[in-house]
Amino acid sequence: MASPSEFDIIQRYFSFSQDNTFPSASVSSSAQSIDSESQAIVAIGDDAAVLPVSENPLVIATDTLIEGVHFPYGFAAEAVASRAMGVNLSDFAAMGAKPRWLTMALSLPNADAEWLEKFSRQFEQQCKQYQVQLIGGDTTKGPLSISLTVLGETDSGQSQLSDSVRSQLAAIRPNLLDDKAICLRRNGAKAGDDIWLSGSLGKGAAALALISADDIDLHCSEADKTQLINSFNAPQPRLTLGAALLGLANSAIDISDGLMADAKHIADQSQVKIIIDGEALPINAALKNYSNQAQLQEWVLAGGDEYELLFTVPAAYRSVVQSIVEWLAVDCTNIGSVEAGRGVTLVGEAWQANNKSGYTHF
Ligand code: ADP
Ligand code: MG
Repeated sequence: MASPSEFDIIQRYFSFSQDNTFPSASVSSSAQSIDSESQAIVAIGDDAAVLPVSENPLVIATDTLIEGVHFPYGFAAEAVASRAMGVNLSDFAAMGAKPRWLTMALSLPNADAEWLEKFSRQFEQQCKQYQVQLIGGDTTKGPLSISLTVLGETDSGQSQLSDSVRSQLAAIRPNLLDDKAICLRRNGAKAGDDIWLSGSLGKGAAALALISADDIDLHCSEADKTQLINSFNAPQPRLTLGAALLGLANSAIDISDGLMADAKHIADQSQVKIIIDGEALPINAALKNYSNQAQLQEWVLAGGDEYELLFTVPAAYRSVVQSIVEWLAVDCTNIGSVEAGRGVTLVGEAWQANNKSGYTHF
């Protein structure tokens, strides 16, 4: 018998604290959904939990990186630090939330002073860059792993945006859908939405192949290879894009498990059908000369580690997304549409044979 997926495990064993939030969450994204003091606004099933502890709800997300699973053995200490930070903050980007504090549970095989010096220096730099404060954690002896819990706030005031972008958005905001939105959710996609993707695809899996296998030839320049490896070592969480999408996007998720798998989370939780056009997918520029098409398609559709935002916006607001792209200088591509129905369908002649479902941990 096939072993259960991580999603089966979470749903079967750990979703006891809520009635039906996973996989088909029923809580709306508006502040009005706080129905009692103790009830989580968002619990298991989204990129982060949202709790009504004050006027400004608290946002919490945890992610663990294990040597040999989430990064290769011998990975540079600096890269462990920046990858852990990028991966964790990406969940905040997917919620349109603002990270403020974090705790770190670190398991180390030995107290290697040189490693710890490099790791901590990079981690400190990352905390400064993203303006988050390390407030606690746990340090133990064991296989190398790092687990961060990020705490922060909902950001309905869009404080992560520059004054100029915030005011330009404010000028169009009254026309937008939900001016009470406190966070982005996986469960709000609606028929008639476009589905958008930030950045490009294929880079996560291609970088991992470059790092792990010496014999792979991507037919790209040294500069391209460096760009791929940098994006793996230090994923850039799309925090400002997430903040800008508040009140505009009906749904959002970050791509950690693979495009098709993460699109399915939106489709399942929103109870809609997502159509993805393979021909429209933005493949990372470093991979344009890579000749193994089957491998490339697999990386693009099922490769994890992209940390891009996948989000849906009513087709009527296409031009607003295009303005955000310009203001933030973050590329976003319209890769398909949302319809009534269920599941994720891939169209595009060259792509249909390749309905990949994404990385599963078990
Ligand atoms: P992501 O890829 O965005 O980090 P995951 O796929 O890891 O999200 O998790 C999906 C959802 O399940 C999240 O809401 C997460 O908080 C929740 N979850 C994962 N593992 C557990 C667990 N052991 N107990 C309770 N909730 C969990
Ligand atoms: Mg996520």
